[in-house]
Amino acid sequence: MALLAEAKRISALFEFSDDDVRNAVVEFVTEMNEGLEKNGTTLSQIPTFVTGVPNGTEKGLYLAVDLGGTNFRVCSIQLHGDTTFTLTQSKVAIPKELMVAETAKELFAFLAKQVELFLKSHHEEHFEGRVERHQTPGTPTGYEEESIFRLGFTFSFPVHQTGINSGTLIRWTKGFDIQDAVGKDVCALLQEELDLLKLPVKVSALVNDTVGTLMARSYTAPGKTDTLLGAIFGTGTNGAYVETMSKIKKPLEGAYDSTTGQMVVNTEWGSFDNGLKVLPNTIYDQILDKESVNPGIQMFEKRISGMFLGEILRIVLDIMMGNSKNPFFTDKDSSSNDFGSTTVIDDNAPLKQQWAVDSSILSVAQSDNSVGLRTLRQFIEKDLGVQAPSLEDAQAVKDIAHAIAKRAARLAGVAVAGIILHTGRLDPKGGPEDIVDIGVDGSLVEFYPGFEDYMREAMRAVDGIGHAGEKRIRIGIAKDGSGVGAALIALVAAKLE
Ligand code: ADP
Repeated sequence: MALLAEAKRISALFEFSDDDVRNAVVEFVTEMNEGLEKNGTTLSQIPTFVTGVPNGTEKGLYLAVDLGGTNFRVCSIQLHGDTTFTLTQSKVAIPKELMVAETAKELFAFLAKQVELFLKSHHEEHFEGRVERHQTPGTPTGYEEESIFRLGFTFSFPVHQTGINSGTLIRWTKGFDIQDAVGKDVCALLQEELDLLKLPVKVSALVNDTVGTLMARSYTAPGKTDTLLGAIFGTGTNGAYVETMSKIKKPLEGAYDSTTGQMVVNTEWGSFDNGLKVLPNTIYDQILDKESVNPGIQMFEKRISGMFLGEILRIVLDIMMGNSKNPFFTDKDSSSNDFGSTTVIDDNAPLKQQWAVDSSILSVAQSDNSVGLRTLRQFIEKDLGVQAPSLEDAQAVKDIAHAIAKRAARLAGVAVAGIILHTGRLDPKGGPEDIVDIGVDGSLVEFYPGFEDYMREAMRAVDGIGHAGEKRIRIGIAKDGSGVGAALIALVAAKLE
């Protein structure tokens, strides 16, 4: 039992009380305001030049492309105008040599070629509408205006956005390294190559995936409601919300439609409270941060997202194993071990390797409520590399994994609550039917059992939300921000041309 008592003691270190939530929300709102006033703050609060969200009645055929890692995705999205859409897509791996090419042209010519192949195989009819006409700046030669596809370009690398369809590359990440492209407008680079192929395509929007999530949810949400916030809880975490234009005090460099009085803001909330004023900071968080590639940065994300939760668990278990007072994952009396052997772990086991434990084991631990925790014990063998864990071992893992995930969900609730309070969207005068719609995406929120419930529990504790307010918050999964979301941003952008 000593082991379970120790697991209980450690789990308690991950408690994030209602008072902690309330304090954190106050700080979150403060940092939101700072980010709207000036650059270089913890919450970057990046204006996106997207000045409205869809309500599900939008119609038309749009293109979207997504360059974010190893694959390039091209899709067409037919918006039916009744919150539904049809998506056709193709996906191709980026040849390694193009990721490190001499010139940007080599990569972008390849991307344009994929768009051409896609159009030829799925939308041949659009080539037939070609007529010789005078070249208009910014539009491909030889096409009727109405036969030109508007395209949303999801580009998941750091860019300095200068308009709804322009932004310069700050630096490459994820194995790409083409120095020639740095400082250039990535939309212009793609447009140039599309034009050389004489394709009827205009790059109308440069899209951030979180903004895409917001747009995708707003289109598909029931009842023609505008969605307030799109939030991602996957490998990383981030949120984009609809802000009142007059609250954005820092200078905006690009052109935008000022008639709506609104603009979507990309919070980049992964860096919330990098100064650790209100965030929890257990010894395990400190170890994770110290051994990460970016100590002191993305401190909120390091306590919430899928990339880190498995590693926090690994660090806890590794330290527990080193504690001789608590026999854990080691040779011992295996009376409660129905695998019939002693527990063994070697130095190559994932449990001993930094970043080797995937966060999905937290979901497995939460889902397995069987008496013998058989499934979890199998995962401990497979995912942690521990042979024949005992029932007590598995119970300890379950307790600690739960504490880590629950804290993550409550912290996620802090961000959502902060945005709801800041926007004043839960005006106390609104009745129960006045819904605040939130779109979420990412494996953690989708697959961790009870993630949303813990988020809600935290939000109920917040002054200004409470039980009545929390009931008015509707949270729905928003799939495919880089497909339908990007198409919707292209649609919004096309209205400005
Ligand atoms: P991305 O954010 O990269 O687009 P996902 O939304 O699928 O992709 O998130 C992937 C992250 O979610 C990984 O860090 C992975 O460890 C974590 N993850 C995947 N499945 C689960 C699960 N069932 N429970 C908790 N975390 C998960």
